[in-house]
Amino acid sequence: MVASPADFPALSRYSGLVQLALPFAPTIESSLAPTRVSPIAPTTVRPLAPTSVSPITPTPEDPLAPVYFVRHRRARRYLLRVEHDGRLRVTIPRGGSRREADAFVARHLDWVARERARLQTRSQLSFEERHTLRQRARIELPARLLELAALHELTVTRVSVRNQRTRWGSCGRDGHISLNWRLVLMPMAVRDYVLVHELMHLRRLDHSRAYWRLVAAACPGYREARQWLRTNGPSLR
Ligand SMILES: [Zn+2]
Repeated sequence: MVASPADFPALSRYSGLVQLALPFAPTIESSLAPTRVSPIAPTTVRPLAPTSVSPITPTPEDPLAPVYFVRHRRARRYLLRVEHDGRLRVTIPRGGSRREADAFVARHLDWVARERARLQTRSQLSFEERHTLRQRARIELPARLLELAALHELTVTRVSVRNQRTRWGSCGRDGHISLNWRLVLMPMAVRDYVLVHELMHLRRLDHSRAYWRLVAAACPGYREARQWLRTNGPSLR
């Protein structure tokens, strides 16, 4: 039901705030009760002492610089996060190594580039510009959706324009279509494809072959539009 450009799940959702050092479970306790330490409620918390934070050392030969590594005992896997200033933070889990961290980063270069591009775009829009664009979206998007609905003899019960983080649009069983205000940042043809995508869900609430045939008939250029979204979508979010 969703036109979604998101293909990097857990990574981008990681909210890595400053990590406190959390000690291992006390030996006595753990020998008596070898239950796993809950990630939510640690039994003891030592005063602020980061396990190990390497200083920020941007190396000029590294295309990923500035990058910094943080060891985090309770992390269960490697994590990446692009900070708002563009620095890449790499969390090394307990038992992990710097070498593995480097390999992990190397496997996610595309993600890092996309994430940086996304943050860049966001910071290029001032608060006022965003406000103006969202206002425009609230007027233009429902109007265009209803126009296309009429063209295809479909009935939309409700339209909302929202600030979704991972979706361009969605369509509910009740005929309620939600649209992402960022659609106004896209070329008309791409925006229309997203609108048609949601409208065709009024006929079929799935992504079956039959569904895509409906989309193709209503929007012959849909493949190019999808490609555009894959390439440029992440930088709009
Ligand atoms: Zn869909």
